[in-house]
Amino acid sequence: MKAAFAPTLEGWYERHRRDLPWRHTRDPYRIWLSEVILQQTRVAQGRPYYERFVEAYPTVTDLALADERELLRLWQGLGYYSRARNLHQTARYITEQLNAEFPATFDGLLSLKGIGVYTAAAVASFAFGERVPVVDGNVYRVLARVFGITEDITTTGAKKTFAKLASELIQPASDPATYNQAIMEFGAIQCTPVSPDCLLCPLQQSCNAYQTGRQQRLPVKAKKEPVRNRYFNYLVLRQNGKLVMRERTARDIWQNLYDFWLVETDEPITALTDLNLPDELAKLVQQGRLTGNPVPLTQLLSHQRIRGQFFLVDLPDTVSMPLPTGFGQYSMDEINQLPKPVLVTTYLNEWLG
Ligand code: SF4
Repeated sequence: MKAAFAPTLEGWYERHRRDLPWRHTRDPYRIWLSEVILQQTRVAQGRPYYERFVEAYPTVTDLALADERELLRLWQGLGYYSRARNLHQTARYITEQLNAEFPATFDGLLSLKGIGVYTAAAVASFAFGERVPVVDGNVYRVLARVFGITEDITTTGAKKTFAKLASELIQPASDPATYNQAIMEFGAIQCTPVSPDCLLCPLQQSCNAYQTGRQQRLPVKAKKEPVRNRYFNYLVLRQNGKLVMRERTARDIWQNLYDFWLVETDEPITALTDLNLPDELAKLVQQGRLTGNPVPLTQLLSHQRIRGQFFLVDLPDTVSMPLPTGFGQYSMDEINQLPKPVLVTTYLNEWLG
């Protein structure tokens, strides 16, 4: 079975592969970019981001020289902003320290900050043809089902088991790059999480999960931690058409993105007066006018549900505004250029646009 596994998948891939832009290149920079964008992101969602990035930054040097704010703005909506910052840092390192040349081996790639085992294997095999297996969520699922592996895939022991098996399986492949693309594609469109297409599957006869009816039970994965609710109450101060915003600097979600004055509470609140504002800000608010009802919006992240409420307060032009440190007044044109969380962008587009 092990010997036939790679050729079977390569044959399947020839017939079923989707035509995706990053499959037409052997440029390590573009492959790396696509892999980073596609982590935690579906292909349909990631594709336009990839195309925009390649257009804005066609080479690793262009990315290295990018303005971080601009880069975060292009990234907006993909979430996990640390990925974008790491991308930038690594591009700078490659440009400045390695003469804009990617290391051409798995080990060399792995030594770069921000490039993990999966990405190093993807770039090494797709760009340089190195015989190293990629192991992502799709690969875990396919291998667990075909070979009936019941170890919890979140454990270190299981990771070793899968890595060893994956290294054996890639050996008979006619081309490591094609094989790696094939197994990931197979997991994405044939052996899918909820309804694998077993009836038309070329591995059916040898698939342990199919033969034992365990498709839904494999792979075994420990339960995710529960989603945490957070209540973000935003005070949106507007004067002369400008809004008061600040860059988020704390080590929390949305670092380096821009939002408004925030009061986070443990429970939902309904009135502006429930916000525990510092005295100066409370005085300022008293001189303004609350415009409309607070706007509730929710954004779901991987482990957090952010329940936002936006209180818009219009201030007369005559009021002088002592802004807290880190805050500034921005026109709508300026705000359009700032990187922002999706929650804030939705509010601006739908309520102030
Ligand atoms: S038979 Fe079903 S579970 Fe087994 S590899 Fe094929 S699609 Fe996946």
